Amino acid sequence: MMHLKMYINGEWVDAASKKTREIVNPANGEIIALAAEGDVEDARHAIQVARQAFDSGVWSEQPPAERARYLFAIADKLEERAEEIGRLETLDNGKPLRETAFDVADAVACFRYYAGLVTKPDGQTYHVADPMQALVIREPVGVCGLIVPWNYPLLMGVWKIAPALAAGNTIVFKPSEITPVTTIKLFEIIDEVGIPKGVANMVLGAGATVGNELAESHLVDKISFTGGTVTGRSIMKAAAGNIKKISLELGGKSPNIVFADADFETAVDYALFAIFANQGQVCAAGSRLLLEDSIHDRFVERLVERAKNIRVGAGDDPSTEMGPLVSQAHMEKVLHYIELGKAEGARLMCGGNRITDNGREKGYYVEPTIFTDTTPSMKIVQEEIFGPVLAIQRFQDEADAIRIANDTVYGLAGGVFTQDGAKAMRVVKKLRAGITWINCYHPTYNEAPWGGYKQSGIGRGLGTFGFDEFTEVKQININLQVQPTGWFEN
Ligand code: NDP
Repeated sequence: MMHLKMYINGEWVDAASKKTREIVNPANGEIIALAAEGDVEDARHAIQVARQAFDSGVWSEQPPAERARYLFAIADKLEERAEEIGRLETLDNGKPLRETAFDVADAVACFRYYAGLVTKPDGQTYHVADPMQALVIREPVGVCGLIVPWNYPLLMGVWKIAPALAAGNTIVFKPSEITPVTTIKLFEIIDEVGIPKGVANMVLGAGATVGNELAESHLVDKISFTGGTVTGRSIMKAAAGNIKKISLELGGKSPNIVFADADFETAVDYALFAIFANQGQVCAAGSRLLLEDSIHDRFVERLVERAKNIRVGAGDDPSTEMGPLVSQAHMEKVLHYIELGKAEGARLMCGGNRITDNGREKGYYVEPTIFTDTTPSMKIVQEEIFGPVLAIQRFQDEADAIRIANDTVYGLAGGVFTQDGAKAMRVVKKLRAGITWINCYHPTYNEAPWGGYKQSGIGRGLGTFGFDEFTEVKQININLQVQPTGWFEN
């Protein structure tokens, strides 16, 4: 059994209260670890330490090439331990090994991307009247509170930790209380490469206590959060006290639009991938499938046939295509939505149940589930379920597709399948969403900005945009003729 501690000021520590939390393997309900259960006091300690480290300049004043050297070293060590860390992620989160292998590789690449970026040309000059010389530079924001969810425990952390550290900030990181294992491995690596004490800190504990303290504390300059929209709203409120900079990557109910002229098998394949990858626990999941009327029935038939064949099992079984959901509580939430869908009058085409046969009775397995005959006001159409539940909507023409696609409070992502390139571009440009795909769904790149319109968030992660979120912009105006203005006579 693993004993998981917090990492504060370069030391591994228990919670001040000595409380612990049981960490559960969602494949079978077994307890795999006891994690320190920090609370407000621990969060305050970590914040204080990060504040001192930032103000001392021990990190922000290092040359960018030096910070990059640390980040490259982290990437190398993460890569060396990829298999071990991938296995641990599967153990803690449940997702299949092929997904965790991908996540770790992506995390490695993310560190390398930001290590490279930080030494590249930066800033601007702007031209003003002589004798002034003017320029813009970017500086770190300061102490950053980073809060992430459980669906990609390591990767969501790295998407924030890598750019935050590259830019010269100090950090207090909080993983989801139910999936802390792999980020602890990451902090072991951070410790090994010798990042100065106090620069990178990790606290464990509940969002309502530890997370809220990060959002509220006046010693924290910036909060970067990924998770549900309800939590995002509460973080915005908590962050108002000292007008913190905030970046929020929130939920979605993203439309995947398939026109009749799409390549049929490609569209079916991606429709499955869009909703059932990572058990549907993806903020950008294509959880609404919009089908053009003329292909609706044929498409649903093929989709259902393939969904029924998805192999659902333990993540560490190499033949598994879909693992368990992350926790019992989350499984219950998803099953509740399925009941709601039935009660609302949607037609259940496949799935709809917890899976309990063949040794799966102790895990949190839910069948790939597809609803048709939905109406726009149904909760299963409007609300983020965050599980393997697809709501299909029917449309008549291009304008109808766009209207239905934009008809939720969310605006994270969207996909379009058609062989008409001009139509694809027209539709994508009308989508009120930050991430779009044409004839594919889900590819995500470290180079490209990630984030949403509307209630899907504020700001962008990844790419240069994600780096900028961890910087402040300063203008510097330099007088090249040092003499009085003469504005006042005496
Ligand atoms: P949350 O938004 O509650 O959790 C995300 C992170 O925020 C966790 O680390 C959590 O802590 C922390 N947190 C919770 N409350 C607060 C708070 N008041 N102040 C600061 N931090 C807080 O997501 P859940 O895991 O509970 O999932 C709920 C729903 O959110 C999902 O069903 C899904 O719909 C959506 N979601 C969306 C994600 C996305 O990527 N867009 C990711 C995850 C969830 P802890 O959980 O450790 O207590």
